[in-house]
Amino acid sequence: MTDPVSVLHSTFGFPAFRGVQESVVSRVLAGERTLAVMPTGAGKSLCYQLPAVMLEGTCVVVSPLIALMHDQLRAAEAVGIRAATLTSVDENRAETRGRFLDGELDLLYVAPERASGSDFRDLLERGKLSLFAIDEAHCVSEWGHDFRPDYRLLRPLLDRFPDVPRLALTATADTHTRADILDQLGIPKDGLIVAGFDRPNIRYAISAKDNTTRQIADLIAEQPGPGIVYAQTRAATEKLAEALAKTGRPTRAYHAGLEPPIRAKNQADFVASEDMVIVATVAFGMGIDKPDVRFVAHAGLPKSIEAYYQETGRAGRDGDPAVAHLFWGAEDFAKARQRMNEVETARQPGERARLSALGALVETAGCRRKLLLAHFGDDAPDNCGNCDNCLNPPAATDATTVAQKFLSA
Ligand code: ADP
Ligand code: MG
Repeated sequence: MTDPVSVLHSTFGFPAFRGVQESVVSRVLAGERTLAVMPTGAGKSLCYQLPAVMLEGTCVVVSPLIALMHDQLRAAEAVGIRAATLTSVDENRAETRGRFLDGELDLLYVAPERASGSDFRDLLERGKLSLFAIDEAHCVSEWGHDFRPDYRLLRPLLDRFPDVPRLALTATADTHTRADILDQLGIPKDGLIVAGFDRPNIRYAISAKDNTTRQIADLIAEQPGPGIVYAQTRAATEKLAEALAKTGRPTRAYHAGLEPPIRAKNQADFVASEDMVIVATVAFGMGIDKPDVRFVAHAGLPKSIEAYYQETGRAGRDGDPAVAHLFWGAEDFAKARQRMNEVETARQPGERARLSALGALVETAGCRRKLLLAHFGDDAPDNCGNCDNCLNPPAATDATTVAQKFLSA
């Protein structure tokens, strides 16, 4: 077998592994079941693509979104990896099946609902497999922030091929969710590999809402580069974009209700711009690679700490200073509580834990970064020197308990 580093150079053109990639890749090459928890942008794809190139047979990649699969396909083909997607929108499915059976695919991307069908299982039994890669693996857990029942149907497929190694990957899973993923996908506890979560160049700040539009306009005035403002509804997105346009900065709205060509144009304009502000719902950001985003603002409470980490993580990917500012109000907690009461009973404890963790984050008088990292099981010093509370310690009397009141009621 050639060595992984030479494949890293020759196929991917990278000088070295980053962070935990090397440990993940060596476990996979040794055939060991693994769960890799690595922040967005850490290079999870390489952890299965490189073994897929080195090992004989095809790596089946389970991925939840067709659009992401097609992006991945293009990226893989660009470096000469033999890859295909098998989804409802692909017209070349028969050809893809043939390529798989002839041993001509390194990677085969599928959605979980297809992967769990008997046709697919029969197909796999007639070919040769190198690896199962389960991307966005937090979707398998009800404790995760994005549970998808289809992911639960994967286990019987995996167990049909007990000798094929499995690699689960996720950017965001708290300690509870990690344990559940291991359990659900049949990965041993010592198969967990976690990369560091700290993003030292991001300055975290959290404020109670006062006049959100003005507060965000002030933030924009202080931050010259491109920025993302997350709003909670489509209507709020458009209204806020219109109001913020008065700051004189180019401003666009982005949400799933816009006509596809407009949405695509707004996104492309933002990616190309050096000073644009995009006001978006959380639909924006997945799969967007813009390294120079200088600030991310939240006009309201995110869904969970995982979502907050992922959304703020879109700032400062180039390593230069960036700001993440969240504006929240008591009504956000009231609404979230109401939604919590509407979900199935089985999911309520997870929802409650999520909300309570957010309450602790917004109301702490201590270091935001420490609290955030502790959520992902990372140790951190008591004072990061780069969050609002460390830079301007609040007076003890400033501490409010609005969120806690809504949570305990
Ligand atoms: P993730 O899925 O963890 O968010 P990706 O797999 O999309 O991250 O990778 C993010 C970026 O990092 C990609 O542009 C990828 O080409 C790049 N990358 C991955 N591994 C390396 C490496 N070892 N050296 C340099 N760049 C890398
Ligand atoms: Mg990825």
